[in-house]
Parts: sequence; C-alpha cells; structure tokens
Amino acid sequence: MDANLKSPAAGSDRIVIIGGGFAGINLVKKLRNSVYQVVMLDKNNYHTFQPLLYQVATGGLEPDSIAYPLRKIFHGYKNFSFRVAAVSNIDTVLKQVETDVGLISYDHLVIATGSGNNFFNLGGMSRYAMPLKSITEALDLRSLILQNMESALVAPEIEREKYFNIVIVGGGPTGVELAGAITELKKHVLPNDYPEINLERMQIYLIEASERLLAGLTVSASEGAYKTLTGMGVNVMLNTRVQDYDGDLVKYGADKQLKSKTVIWSAGVQGEIVNGLGQEVLKRGNRYDVDAYHRINGYENVFAIGDVALMSTENYPTGHPMVAQVAIQQARNLGQNFLRQRSGKSETAFKYKDLGSMATIGRNKAVADLPGFSTRGRFAWLIWMFIHLMNLVGFRNRVVVFINWLWNYISYDRAIRLVIRPFKRNTH
Ligand SMILES: Cc1cc2nc3c(=O)[nH]c(=O)nc-3n(C[C@H](O)[C@H](O)[C@H](O)COP(=O)(O)OP(=O)(O)OC[C@H]3O[C@@H](n4cnc5c(N)ncnc54)[C@H](O)[C@@H]3O)c2cc1C
Repeated sequence: MDANLKSPAAGSDRIVIIGGGFAGINLVKKLRNSVYQVVMLDKNNYHTFQPLLYQVATGGLEPDSIAYPLRKIFHGYKNFSFRVAAVSNIDTVLKQVETDVGLISYDHLVIATGSGNNFFNLGGMSRYAMPLKSITEALDLRSLILQNMESALVAPEIEREKYFNIVIVGGGPTGVELAGAITELKKHVLPNDYPEINLERMQIYLIEASERLLAGLTVSASEGAYKTLTGMGVNVMLNTRVQDYDGDLVKYGADKQLKSKTVIWSAGVQGEIVNGLGQEVLKRGNRYDVDAYHRINGYENVFAIGDVALMSTENYPTGHPMVAQVAIQQARNLGQNFLRQRSGKSETAFKYKDLGSMATIGRNKAVADLPGFSTRGRFAWLIWMFIHLMNLVGFRNRVVVFINWLWNYISYDRAIRLVIRPFKRNTH
C-alpha cells in the first residue's frame, strides 16, 4: 500500500496531485515546504511544455528541450514525493487512488490530468489521424512527414499526391501554428533535401468548421492569421466540416474529398478524466464540474484544476479557456487556499486574470491580443518568443531553445529532420 511512501507527520495531511502539467507543478511550488505532505503522480517522469510541441513535430526543436524531469523541478522540497504512476481509478470512500504501482491513499486529492483528444465520434479520424498532445505524438508526426516525403519520391506517379498533401483539421492556435511551420519547411528546407521533387505539388490544407480561424482571439487577429496563411500558400477552408478519414481520403462537406497520407487532428480536446467519480460531476467537454474553490461538486476533499476542470462563472459560463495561464492561476489559488485552511482563514474564490492570447504563424509573423492592445507581425512574433522562452521550465532548456531559434532564423534551416523511430500506424 502507498507505494512505499512515508505516512504524513502527525498533524499533517497528505495532498495527492495527479498530473505534473502546468497545474500540477504550480500547485507543488505553492505548497513548498508547507505543513502538508505533497505527493505527485504522473504517468511520465517529465513535464511537457505543450505550446512548443508543434516545433518538435516540424524538426525545429529536440524533444528534450521542451521536457523537464519532474523530480528535478522539485529538488530541495522537503515535503514532496513523486511516483511515476498511471492512475486508473479513484475510491472516494476509502480515500485512495488505484495506480499501476498500487493503491495510494490521500487526505486531499487534486486531479490535474489535463486534456486528451476529442475526435467527435469520427472513428476513422481517431484511427488514422495524427494527434499532437504529447512528445511521443510530436515525434511520430515528425517521422511521418519525413517518411511520406521519402515515399513520394519512390511512389508511382498515380499515387504520389496523397504523400505530398498535408491536411490539418482545426483552425485553433495549434492548427494555425502547424500550418505555418509546415509551410516554412516546404519553402526553405525540403527543396534542399528533395531537389528531385517539384514541391509546388505539396499542398497544405487547413480545414476549420467555423467561420474563422483562432476563434478564441479577436476578429482582427483571426483575419490577420487568415491573410498571412493564405499569403504563404496554405489552402485555408473555413465553414468546412470533415466527415471522416480512411487513411487515404479525407471526406469533407457534402461529398468532397482530399487525398492525403498525413492528416493532423487539432480540432478538439476533452478532459482527461479518471474513473471513479459519478457521471453527474462531468460537464461539457468531459470536464469536472468545480465550484469557485476548485472543489468537484459533491466531494469535500477532491479538487480539479487546469484543462480537466470546468468552473462556470459569470464571465466564463462554459468554463475558462483550456490554456496554460488558467491552469497556473488555478493551481496558485488552490495552493493558497490549502495554506489558508491550515491557518484557520477562509478560502478565496478563483478569479481569472486574462493575460492575453497569441499565435505564431512563421518567421516575423504572429498575432497577439494582449491586455489593452492587439498587435501582429514582427512585434507580436518577438513578444510570442519572449513569453514562450520565459515560461519554459529550466534554464538549460531556455538557452537551448534560444540558440535553436537563432540558428533556424539565420540559416532558414530545421536541422532536426531525423527519423529515429519510424512511425507505424496502429490501425486497431
Ligand atoms: C499542441 C498544443 C499547443 C498548445 N499551445 C498553447 C499555447 O500556445 N498557450 C497556452 O496557454 N496553452 C497552449 N496549450 C494548452 C496548454 O498546454 C494546456 O492548457 C495546459 O497544458 C493545461 O495544463 P494542465 O496542467 O491542466 O494539463 P497538462 O499540462 O496536460 O498536464 C497533465 C498531466 O497529467 C498527466 N496525466 C494525465 N492522466 C494521468 C493519469 N491517469 N495518471 C497519471 N498522470 C496522468 C499527464 O502525463 C500530464 O503530465 C497547447 C496545448 C497543446 C496540446
């Protein structure tokens, strides 16, 4: 029992946190060396900086510059323990979680498991399309893009189109950033590697069901992104709904189709829930229904923060956006409330401070909605780079990413186009 964890000291409580993402790590930081025993569980031994996954997928960054060992983040924390453990069930009566390394008990449980893909019941999409939520998926996508170029080179003429075409489904920040990065790959990098291929044949499609890209940003940012991407040669298809995908053909609209071996899914996410709590605590998008103090409704000692939590407020009736700042701010507020509880003070309701949204499209090209002003172009791009560098975990990672960006900028290159582990599609 308890995966060899020590019992909490007399008078102390154990807080178990599931997930070492933005929410989990910021909660632990807030509780550093407090009276609580803090136990973090994650199925991986590292934290992933998801906003830069698309650069790993397109050969701009190595995976280890956007990941950081969780144990290392918390060196010197006296009240902290970590276990690599995938949590499969929660028993709120016995106050314990079931994991692949055994049962672990808690006094307070915080679910910070983030989100997974939502394919909206499109079976073919879930089977054949490439998602981008983890480092493994980013590496798979990098391999597939390069493998398909190699296949295009040797395929009979009649089959080549499907290897050239890349279809991105979903025009949110991830879709927009990927479309821009792949277009730059096509323009500046692939012509040197594949001089035998006429790269005009490589078409990049960005399909979005709604009437604009970047629905979470202002209309002017959406229009800016549309103009920039179409100017770069991306085929942006708005008001277009994909019907499904069979590994070769993407069906969309009433009866239209595109040939492609590379379809990237960035159209929907849903809460990554853990079994054990009733269906009644799940709201829209499979997210836990929490109150203003992050408590899952109906459970005294079980909390949810970050992407997996849905807190309905006056300004955000359908929940806060699933972005890093929300996860970070919720973690800090919950941590503060745990500390306040111990000193007999009342808890503070969560209030989100929107620090803005942005998306980068390519070199010198980005759109940003910041408090009080919106900007685009090179200035927005520089802000985007600065914010992402500063938010990366670990000084070494910041330096490595900065040098990589500088090199890519000067050389127009994406040096890391390696197929280390060829991607094989699992069709089951
Ligand atoms: C490609 C991409 C680009 C993005 N770009 C931006 C951006 O530019 N700006 C922005 O603000 N946001 C961006 N986001 C969203 C942002 O990354 C999320 O909002 C944020 O990561 C949410 O933090 P979290 O802590 O809730 O979850 P996560 O960061 O997803 O962390 C969840 C953790 O829980 C662990 N876990 C899950 N289930 C279990 C389990 N059963 N057992 C054990 N461990 C488990 C996971 O391994 C993971 O470490 C992007 C997301 C993606 C995928």
